[in-house]
Amino acid sequence: MALGVRLRYLLSVVLLLVTSATHATPWEQVKHPSPDFPQAIGSYANGCLTGAEALPLDGDGYQVLRAERARYYGHPNAISYVQSLAKLAHYQLNIGLLIGDISLPQGGRFSSGHSSHQTGLDIDIWLRLAEQPLSEQQLAKPQPLSVVDLKGYQLVKHRWDSRHFELIKFAAADEQVARIFVHPVIKQQLCDSEQSSDRAWLRKVRPWWGHHYHMHVRLKCPENSSSCRPQAQPPVGDGCGAELASWKPQPKPSKPKPATTPTKKPIKIMPEQCLDLLQLTQHTPTS
Ligand SMILES: [Zn+2]
Repeated sequence: MALGVRLRYLLSVVLLLVTSATHATPWEQVKHPSPDFPQAIGSYANGCLTGAEALPLDGDGYQVLRAERARYYGHPNAISYVQSLAKLAHYQLNIGLLIGDISLPQGGRFSSGHSSHQTGLDIDIWLRLAEQPLSEQQLAKPQPLSVVDLKGYQLVKHRWDSRHFELIKFAAADEQVARIFVHPVIKQQLCDSEQSSDRAWLRKVRPWWGHHYHMHVRLKCPENSSSCRPQAQPPVGDGCGAELASWKPQPKPSKPKPATTPTKKPIKIMPEQCLDLLQLTQHTPTS
C-alpha cells in the first residue's frame, strides 16, 4: 500500500471510529454547502456532495420536517424535483407534502436513521398527506402515520386512498428517478390499483422494509457528476409477481435454525474526494 493510500485508509477508519464513539458524525458538524460546482460523489450509502442547494423550508405544496437536523440539502436536481412534485401534489391532489430527510449540507453520513442519503439524491417523503399546513411544533416533532399494519402484513385501509396511488405514480414518472422504496404491502396495493396498461413506472417502485410511513425517492446520478456511482437497474418487469410475493413473511419453522456466526461488515472507505472535502472544510475558518 502506498503511503498516501495508507494514510487515507487510516483517516477513513479514524472517521468511522469517531462516528461510532460520539454521537454526531463529522459531516453533521459541517454547517454550509461547499461553494463548488454541484456534484454527487460516491455511492448513495458512501459518498458526499459538493455545491448543494438548500430546500427552502416552506414552499408551494410542501413543508420540511425537523429542520433543526439540517437534512434539507440536496443536489440541485433533488431540490427542483421536490419542488415540482409538491406543485403537482398541491394543484392536482390538493395536499401538502411533508419532506423528511434529504442530505446534510455536504452530504456524508447521518448519526441516526439510514445509511444512504449521502450524495444529495435520496429524498424521504411522508405518506401522511397534509390537508392543512402543520404548525411549527408539529413540524419539529411530527407524528408519523403508518399505512401498513406491520403485524398483520396488510394495508391500513382507512389511512390509504387514491391520492397515495396518484402521488407515488407522479413521483415515479419523472425521468430522473432511479428507484422509489416502499413497504412490500404498499407495492402490492400499487400493483393491484393500476388499472391502465401503463405499468412501466411500477418497475421503479421497489419493496423495502421500513418504508411504511414514508416513501424514499432515489434519483439517478446527475450528468456532470462523473464520480457518482449509480446502482444497477431494477429487474425488468413491473415487479408485481413472484418477487413481491417472496417478501411476505412465512410462518416460523418449528425447528430452531442452526446458529450462524455473525459476519463482520466490511469497513467502508470513503471516496478520496469526500475525505479531501471534509479536511478542507474542517480547516477553513468560518466567518
Ligand atoms: Zn430514506
